[in-house]
Amino acid sequence: MSNEAPGTIEFTDGITAIDTDHIRPLFDASHLIVEGGRAAFVDTGANSSVPRLLAALSRKNIDPADVDYVFLTHVHLDHAGGAGLLMQALPNAKAVLHPRGAPHMIDPAKLIRGAQAVYGEQKFAEEYGDIVPISAERIIVIDDEYEISLSGRILQCIYTEGHARHHYVLYDSQSKSVFTGDSFGLSYREFDTAKGEFIYPTTTPVHFDPPEAHKAIDRIIGLQPEQLMLTHYSRVTELTRLADDMHKRIDDFVDIARRHAKDELRTEKMHQSMYTYFHDELAAHGFAGSTEQVHDIVEIDVMLNTMGLEYWLDHQ
Ligand SMILES: [Zn+2]
Repeated sequence: MSNEAPGTIEFTDGITAIDTDHIRPLFDASHLIVEGGRAAFVDTGANSSVPRLLAALSRKNIDPADVDYVFLTHVHLDHAGGAGLLMQALPNAKAVLHPRGAPHMIDPAKLIRGAQAVYGEQKFAEEYGDIVPISAERIIVIDDEYEISLSGRILQCIYTEGHARHHYVLYDSQSKSVFTGDSFGLSYREFDTAKGEFIYPTTTPVHFDPPEAHKAIDRIIGLQPEQLMLTHYSRVTELTRLADDMHKRIDDFVDIARRHAKDELRTEKMHQSMYTYFHDELAAHGFAGSTEQVHDIVEIDVMLNTMGLEYWLDHQ
């Protein structure tokens, strides 16, 4: 056994996945990139994740002062909720944000209200606590294809809508990786089988946009990466098949929404259809776990995806 924390995965090219332990183990990853003694985080998890991120630095003998960037793919709180608190421990770091995301980290009031509407006030307080703002002078606001040097290693920010209108992904040509945030779906390692990786889109409220979600997949694949680093959960490599699966499942989720659009008890009907969908697709994928295991793992996504699809139905 190594001395690594549970859920930590070491990759080549100075890349590490750190389990933020947000919601449950192996749900939410922060990625650390180390180059020439300098470091950057991609997504941070929540406030409760910050000690794990700092412990990962310390295991690598990296001083918090040597962290140059905190890349926030978007400001949903499972990605950026802990960023303000983390920045307090990183004296030289700048947070890197999409122009539509930056205002929400400078003044998180709207972000907090939005998340309270999604999770409920009590659950929000338990899971996210006090969101620490980031001062404007510590934020780099990007353009599309903006390039940033981490000790000479060029990292490129690429706009991707579909999941959120303030989302970007980070392309690292050195490792041929794209850090995809939520723009290339979710792929939990528990669902890996002999048939490989299992992936599906996240249609979280309030900006799910099917045509843009399809475009995001094509734009990411167009970078010709060899691996994608998903926030939920870390590396996937079967990119051609996974891109096909993503395109198909974006359409499948839209079909579920349309099929129930006029139903009474629309939310419950959509939940049922989503659970059935996951059950069937995972069975076809060779997942041997029980119905309860499937339910436990996908429950949060069934809830959030349904919310986002209903918002989309109501605002087309
Ligand atoms: Zn998100």
